[in-house]
Parts: sequence; C-alpha cells; structure tokens
Amino acid sequence: MTSLASARQIFLTAARMIACLDLEGVLVPEIWINVAERTGIVELRRTTRDEPDYDKLMRRRLEILERHGLTLADIQDVIGTMGPLEGATEFLHWLRTQFPVIILSDTFDEFARPLLAQLGYPTLFCNSLVVDDRGKVRDYHIRIRDGKRKAVMALKLLNFDVVAAGDSYNDITMLTEADHGILFRPPEKIVREFPQFRVAYTYEELKEAFVRVAKLRG
Ligand SMILES: [Mg+2]
Repeated sequence: MTSLASARQIFLTAARMIACLDLEGVLVPEIWINVAERTGIVELRRTTRDEPDYDKLMRRRLEILERHGLTLADIQDVIGTMGPLEGATEFLHWLRTQFPVIILSDTFDEFARPLLAQLGYPTLFCNSLVVDDRGKVRDYHIRIRDGKRKAVMALKLLNFDVVAAGDSYNDITMLTEADHGILFRPPEKIVREFPQFRVAYTYEELKEAFVRVAKLRG
C-alpha cells in the first residue's frame, strides 16, 4: 500500500501528469481472440502479430463475419460475456484517483462499449465501424493514422507529462513519444527489442511504476 506521505506527493505531482493506457492486453483480453474462441471461428484468431498489414487483416475479418452471417449485435453479445482482466478494474480505479487517464486503443467504439461499462466508463479514444441498417459490419473507419502517438503528442503540447502503458507492437510509437513508457505483460521478444522501457507483469508492479515516475517528477 502507498503511504499517506507518498500519496500526497503523487497528488501534488498529478496536476501536470496524465496517464495513457492501451485497452486490449492491459485492461481487457484481446477482443478478436475471444470472439474467435466464443464463436468457434478459428480464422478470427489472426491478429496484427500474424498479419502486419492492418487493412488486409480487417478486410479479411469483415469477409469472415459476412460469410458466417454475423452482425454487430452478435459480436457485441460475445463481447458482453467478456470481462476485464483480473485486477484491472481495481487498478484503473486507483489510477483515476491519482491522474487523469485516457485509454488509447486501436479497437472500435462499438466493440469496446460493453467492456467500458464494466470498467466504469473511462475516457476512450479509438476507431469506429461502419454498420448498415441490417446491423452488418460493412467497413471500418480509422479516426486518424497512428492515433496513439498523436494523442500523446497533443497532450504534451498541452504541457502534460505523459506516462503511457501498453503491451504490444501497436503501442511502441505511443510509448516512445510519452515521457515515460511502460510495457505491461509484453511478449518476450518485445522486451528484448525495446529494452528502454520499464516492464510490469502484475497490476501491483504497474502501480509501482506509476508511483515511481510521479515521485521522480515531484
Ligand atoms: Mg494491446
């Protein structure tokens, strides 16, 4: 537990600090992998780790949904049965008592919504889907390319010190742009490739990493 004195110090520092968190792999499980498991459609297990071309990957996913006749509501039902990672809700609650928190994700608003409810509706910046009047997912809309990094850049322009945490390749530009980057439960190869980032494997360690950064800035 954080002592009262260090809690006060964090509070004083918090005025100019802001936290940016990735969603999938940090607070909730990987959405597409869960959809694949719960629908039994194994092809949906492919992620950016298998297919680096995101557009190609998404086109393929949309084609698979179409082939199986899955609507957005079907996918939302599956996502509705998922929950945050164990300890994530408590961690996020703690973090939001210390710093403003923005979740920066490459997922889609329509997918994240059922999970956000379980996390107490934190602020989320992400992408969106194009859905027709029969509820079929027809396309997707990326609000801005490299959105995670650009959000961090914008926050720095507002004179915030940004502490960012993420788990995967799509977080690296965000972590690099941030004043402090933390990897949370990353694959071993990412730890080896990017030794400059602090690594946390439990929410307790992630909490400690945020506390340490706040003290350094205090
Ligand atoms: Mg992630």
